[in-house]
Amino acid sequence: MQKLRIAIQKSGRLHDDSIKLLKECGIDMNNGVNKLKTEASNFPLEVFFLRDDDIPQYVEDGVADIGIVGENVVLEKARTVDAIEKLGFGKCRLSLAVPKGMEYTSVKDMQNMRIATSYPVILEQFLSKNNITAEIHEISGSVEIAPGIGLAEAICDLVSSGSTLFMNGLKEVETVLKSEAVLIANKSLTAEQIQILDKLLFRIKAVKKAKN
Ligand code: ATP
Ligand code: ZN
Repeated sequence: MQKLRIAIQKSGRLHDDSIKLLKECGIDMNNGVNKLKTEASNFPLEVFFLRDDDIPQYVEDGVADIGIVGENVVLEKARTVDAIEKLGFGKCRLSLAVPKGMEYTSVKDMQNMRIATSYPVILEQFLSKNNITAEIHEISGSVEIAPGIGLAEAICDLVSSGSTLFMNGLKEVETVLKSEAVLIANKSLTAEQIQILDKLLFRIKAVKKAKN
């Protein structure tokens, strides 16, 4: 029988909840920390452990059939995949933040600013929708330190509690995107793969319902 291949985050904020969801769906697997992949013993599922940034591309290319990743990553990578179900964890928002002391009244204040972010695609869309021209500086991590070192006047970064911003003397001024983990799928699954996916989705929906 054919197996469905699912890509989940190898380690990080989505890893534990992704494993937990599969377990709650009744899927048994042994997940070694340093493994690249594992197989479920009681469901036709193979699990790949990958960096979250790579998951949309692997699913688009069909290296994995489905994946669990943040909507923020799906939108930023702009890959052609189907987002089929919101999963209710990994909730966060992509926000604009500026130094605490800076006066801010509206998004117009971003005009001609230098904004540091790891999400240039989503930020650019947001800015052009608001008719703002700004200088986007793409950096891959520790975006919150950019204003302090004089790299940018503002940042656009993921926030959940806001404590990281606070500790860096920043205030959140604009929500660019609300995000949570989603199940994505390759656009050309076989009939057999769709059958397995439907079975998995049925269980995921039941798990979600039981939590409400
Ligand atoms: P990887 O090593 O897989 O590339 P990463 O460092 O890019 O990991 P994490 O910090 O583990 O990513 O975050 C993974 C996802 O968790 C984010 O893309 C986002 O969807 C979600 N998330 C939820 N809350 C937060 C938060 N406060 N900060 C960052 N990401 C968050
Ligand atoms: Zn990542």
